[in-house]
Amino acid sequence: MRISSATRLIALLGDPVAHSLSPVIQNAAFSAADTDGVYVALRCGADDLMGFMRGLARAGGGGNITLPHKERAATLVECPSEAVRRTGACNTFWGESDGKVHGDNTDVAGFRRALNTFLEGSPKAIRVLLLGAGGAARAALTGLLEEGVGEVVIHNRSVERARAVARRIGGERARVTSSVQELRDQSFDLVVNATRLGLSPGDPLPLDFEILGRAGAAMDLVYGREPTPFVKAADSFGVRASDGAEMLVQQGAASFERWWGAPAPVEAMRAALMDGRTR
Ligand code: NAP
Repeated sequence: MRISSATRLIALLGDPVAHSLSPVIQNAAFSAADTDGVYVALRCGADDLMGFMRGLARAGGGGNITLPHKERAATLVECPSEAVRRTGACNTFWGESDGKVHGDNTDVAGFRRALNTFLEGSPKAIRVLLLGAGGAARAALTGLLEEGVGEVVIHNRSVERARAVARRIGGERARVTSSVQELRDQSFDLVVNATRLGLSPGDPLPLDFEILGRAGAAMDLVYGREPTPFVKAADSFGVRASDGAEMLVQQGAASFERWWGAPAPVEAMRAALMDGRTR
């Protein structure tokens, strides 16, 4: 990698950031596409967020935003995309010749691309059970509705938070239930885990076995070095399952496209993730 006075600085802003695989994935992409940029991770507090974003954007660079700043970033970007407006979260920003900070939420595009890679048929008209109501769930719900699914049933520990997400994004095709018994009486073509359960060792499963065992397919947004507990449980029932690694690559690819205006080298990004996971 060459660094010169023309090199664009792209930074991941969040707290913590030390564990992130994004620098590995993006620097591999920058190198494979022969772009003159470098990607670094910067630990950043909420009060410093706008300063970092504006400084990087005005210097011709940009970046990603991660926990806990995605919602705050959505209120700070001067030119938000439709995905930022819909989800209330921003994970990618960059500068343009108008001098303004532009922002997108590429978790939506990343989820849609991962969904289409994972599903064997079309997502149109399927019934989906979405677990969770945080930032990842908002991106997944937006992506599911944009893909034209028939119905999304949202189930979350905090039912009020789920209702707020359904009100904000859902329209007529999304509804909330707090009743596990109601879920047991139904079957779903796809179950999406957008809770954080599975990130920490010893976490319980986000869903009981009876419901998971009857699902057509299962998609976990959590990822790790090993198969996640949700993916392992689905596998044990013969339910086709995938973890969040492909979404991670695809949201990174969509961010790359915003910064460079060119297609991302997705294979190089997948390979870098595989390599980073086994270290
Ligand atoms: P978040 O905004 O903090 O939301 C966390 C979600 O998990 C909420 O729905 C929360 O329920 C639920 N939850 C937490 N602890 C729980 C428990 N003990 N029992 C039941 N539910 C619990 O986090 P997020 O940003 O949405 O991220 C969620 C997961 O998605 C994380 O693991 C993250 O790594 C992953 N993710 C992956 C990608 C990717 O590219 N693959 C992208 C974004 C996020 P309450 O509302 O009741 O608190």
